[in-house]
Amino acid sequence: MLPLRIKQESTVSLQPCQEDAYAERGWAVVESCTAVGEGRFAVIVDRSVLYPEGGGQPADRGTISGVAVLDVQKDPNGRVRLTTDAPVVCGRAPVQVDMDRRFDHMQQHSAQHLITAVAQDYFSRSTLSFHLGARNCSIDLDGPLSGPELRDLEDRVNAEIRGNRSVTHRVVSLEEYAALDVRSRGLPAGYVGDVRLVEIAGLDINTCGGTHVARLGELQLVHLTGTEKVRGGVRLSYLAGGRALERLRDGTHRRGTLNRLLKCGPSEHLATIKRLLDEAKASGRERRQLLSELGQALGAAIPGATPTRAMHLHRPEADLNLLKSVADAARSAGHTGPLLLTGGDSSGVFLVDGPAELVVRVGPRVAEAVRGRGGGRGTRFQGKAEAVGAAHVGLLTP
Ligand SMILES: [Zn+2]
Repeated sequence: MLPLRIKQESTVSLQPCQEDAYAERGWAVVESCTAVGEGRFAVIVDRSVLYPEGGGQPADRGTISGVAVLDVQKDPNGRVRLTTDAPVVCGRAPVQVDMDRRFDHMQQHSAQHLITAVAQDYFSRSTLSFHLGARNCSIDLDGPLSGPELRDLEDRVNAEIRGNRSVTHRVVSLEEYAALDVRSRGLPAGYVGDVRLVEIAGLDINTCGGTHVARLGELQLVHLTGTEKVRGGVRLSYLAGGRALERLRDGTHRRGTLNRLLKCGPSEHLATIKRLLDEAKASGRERRQLLSELGQALGAAIPGATPTRAMHLHRPEADLNLLKSVADAARSAGHTGPLLLTGGDSSGVFLVDGPAELVVRVGPRVAEAVRGRGGGRGTRFQGKAEAVGAAHVGLLTP
């Protein structure tokens, strides 16, 4: 490897956050502050310890002169544009980084470099792109990974974390860049100027402008959470550091909750849940059968009345299926008068059954009375209701 010279007068203008990712606070010169919308201000500064969104890494959050910074973007002129929720006075201003968010990004981003390197070196899978999200991070690889390969990759990545290699950055000229074995998709066509490199000692050199941990040990743990097929390869999801620990805590909490709910240990969770689902399925079948029998019994018990005598029957447990079987059974038993059937507590269902001419006329009136919506055809009108208590047989009288 060629000896590298760090250029004193680089054509790359590094932000303080790129020079020292661990700098929590610094100073910036506010050049302008402009209202840009409802409670939002664009603040232009010369340089900042706040990382502007770029290179796949989300923007930092923090404060400037005590005012919340909601977004950080690079200005086309190389300056930094902060979005704040209050105006900021021009001149020298103290800047504070939300370090929890920054360190999370440093862990996820550095983990991406590491996973990319190990996937390439041990499994010949090249990284096509990556995504660092607020909750999920993923790397698109150019080929599939089997289950055992995924586990092997995870083991090798975590072995590198235990190895605690250093992670450094430097700026080199294009000539030095060309002479190095840089793992990169290459620079944009026509690129001129110097190049910022990030190196995991003895493992990887990559072009990158982001913020990274200083040693792999700071990643703590990388957990590969799964893969899904995407065009041209596979999307590999992962959690690093604090996010992996948070997932572990969440899993432990869920285990404890399941232990209490299922009254068994984790090794029996799956079998217990399967048994409960089977039982619920069987109970559902039995319930439907019993409700059908109940509907038939209730319908048959409705007195065989005269064609003009209307009846109202209410059952709290009834759904529309039960009401329909009540109406069917009442007709089979010879009941000829209009029927108003309701089910539920305050809200529920209703069904009007009778001569078509009557049903067409009173159906919408019943729906209105029970604050419901419904429809029907011929001799039936039914629907859902918000106030089944308002249903009474008088609604069926002309
Ligand atoms: Zn990077």
